[in-house]
Amino acid sequence: MKSFSYDASPARIVFGRGTIDTIAEEVRRLGRSRVMVLASRRLNAVAAAVTASLGDMVVARFDGAVMHTPIEVTTAALKLAESHHVDVVVAIGGGSATGLSKALALRAGFDQIIVPTTYAGSEATPVLGETENGRKTTRSSPHIKPETVVYDVDLTRDLPLGTTVTSAVNAMAHAVEALYSAESNPITDSMAIEVISGIARALPSIVDDPKNLEERAELLQSAWLAGTCLGTVGMGIHHKVCHTLGGSFGLPHAPTHTVVLPHAMAFYASAVPEVMSRIATALGVSDAATGVFDLVTACGGPTSLRELGMRHDQIEKAVELATSAAYPNPREITAAGLNELLDNAWSGRRPAIG
Ligand code: NAD
Repeated sequence: MKSFSYDASPARIVFGRGTIDTIAEEVRRLGRSRVMVLASRRLNAVAAAVTASLGDMVVARFDGAVMHTPIEVTTAALKLAESHHVDVVVAIGGGSATGLSKALALRAGFDQIIVPTTYAGSEATPVLGETENGRKTTRSSPHIKPETVVYDVDLTRDLPLGTTVTSAVNAMAHAVEALYSAESNPITDSMAIEVISGIARALPSIVDDPKNLEERAELLQSAWLAGTCLGTVGMGIHHKVCHTLGGSFGLPHAPTHTVVLPHAMAFYASAVPEVMSRIATALGVSDAATGVFDLVTACGGPTSLRELGMRHDQIEKAVELATSAAYPNPREITAAGLNELLDNAWSGRRPAIG
């Protein structure tokens, strides 16, 4: 028997189709009336529809969110929000829009209604990663966690296939690392297994039929559960490496997760064989790490850091940054071990069967 503690973070979740029509009601439910609509540029049409439905409640709009939440962008958005006396942010988009909303809420205390359109899962966590001077730092606070999340499956129907694959594997990574976390517990374990099997089932169907809304709903629900795992228990070397590669080398978030995950799993395989066996069963394969690598390959996702634009000579600096702070780990992290993991990920080798 394992002893554990579990902190549940409250949030209101609205899930379904056409749920963006409920946002005005959700703003009123929070007792707010001065809305800033914050959306990724590619979602301008959705932002315009939401803005129209909110009418006079919208006092500001911002469309400049970018990956890894750079401080300069937050400063510009904060200035705009404060000059319009905003009291709630409605953020529509992927993890970049959510990250900016969280950064604003932390600084100015705004309420947040998040409308996620990828599977990053950030909306379910009290965690904020921000980038300043080429370094990404993370902090956690109950003030960062959104009050309300509105999942509208219709908004994910046109998510490009490439982003769908990488973002779903990003969600899977939260689930995988939750299972071997030092803080793992039966609640996050069961959510994590549900995420892994749900994504393994839905993703290949979406590749065949990208507008299949039942499968899109499965991925969006998996994203929510995966984000809940991420927000509840500590993550391992996979997240540390991806965080470093994104924050310090500008690699794209979800594609980096997609490339690194099978190699992080192979790295841990001998230390946590029971966990890997549960993951393999959830994936419906005999080996967990190669199972994820083969799923990504079959779905046309990226398999090497080289193709994401990383240079081989950047590995040394990445190892130095990713080993700079110790944290609980199922296997000791050494520079040599991490170097091998990154070299495999850079080359895109299929992991050896563990
Ligand atoms: P993203 O938000 O940058 O979105 C990727 C691209 O897809 C963008 O160009 C966006 O405009 C576009 N897009 C999003 N939804 C779309 C849709 N439905 N249709 C068409 N295009 C769409 O990327 P992401 O991977 O979702 O998020 C990455 C960011 O989230 C990173 O900054 C990462 O650090 C952060 N993140 C934070 C946490 C956390 O808990 N703090 C968790 C996961 C990710």
